[in-house]
Amino acid sequence: MRKLFNAVSFAQYLQKQVVKAGDIVIDATAGKGFDTVFLARQVGTDGHVYAFDIQAEAIMWTCERIREAGLAERVTLCQAGHEEILLHVDRPVRAAMFNLGYLPGASHDVITRPATTVQAVQAVLQLLQAGGLVTLVIYTGHAGGSEERREIEHYAASLPQRQFTVARYELINQVNNPPLVLAIEKLPEERVLL
Ligand code: SAH
Repeated sequence: MRKLFNAVSFAQYLQKQVVKAGDIVIDATAGKGFDTVFLARQVGTDGHVYAFDIQAEAIMWTCERIREAGLAERVTLCQAGHEEILLHVDRPVRAAMFNLGYLPGASHDVITRPATTVQAVQAVLQLLQAGGLVTLVIYTGHAGGSEERREIEHYAASLPQRQFTVARYELINQVNNPPLVLAIEKLPEERVLL
């Protein structure tokens, strides 16, 4: 069995360590719904997934996939930009997954953009519980991808070390610009020593 995962599998591997039955989680880029289904299985019957995408096509794909898997009751689909997450989710979340770039098979003009992606991560970090995890799978092979990577990494690298641990996972011997993972873990609240 392979030990060094590709980016998408590594993001799921990390999420599996964190997301448990009963958790509330976010799929910030529903796309074709693979991560939504993955998260819905992880949270069990008592948990819930909020899945966001701006494209009707992505919402339809995801809707069909969760229905086929019998998981629709555990998922709220929001056709909205993830930068508006705080308008739709008002409770603490254990984890969030981002899979950036464009929807495979659809127009490459509709892509995630650095400014709104950073806004969305900021919003998610406000909702994130201590011990919670955010993963971002970042693509650099399309126009605008490298800029997005740069801006997100710049933002993530500036997060305070006392509150967050930020890591990058990347395969470095491959052609065709493989995606990479950024992972942000929120640390337990600091205790104020009196
Ligand atoms: N590149 C991945 C799939 C990414 S899908 C792969 O190869 O598997 C990325 C999704 O993000 C698309 O469905 C797109 O519609 C969505 N998206 C773009 N901007 C968004 C935004 N502001 N908020 C939420 N979703 C967005």
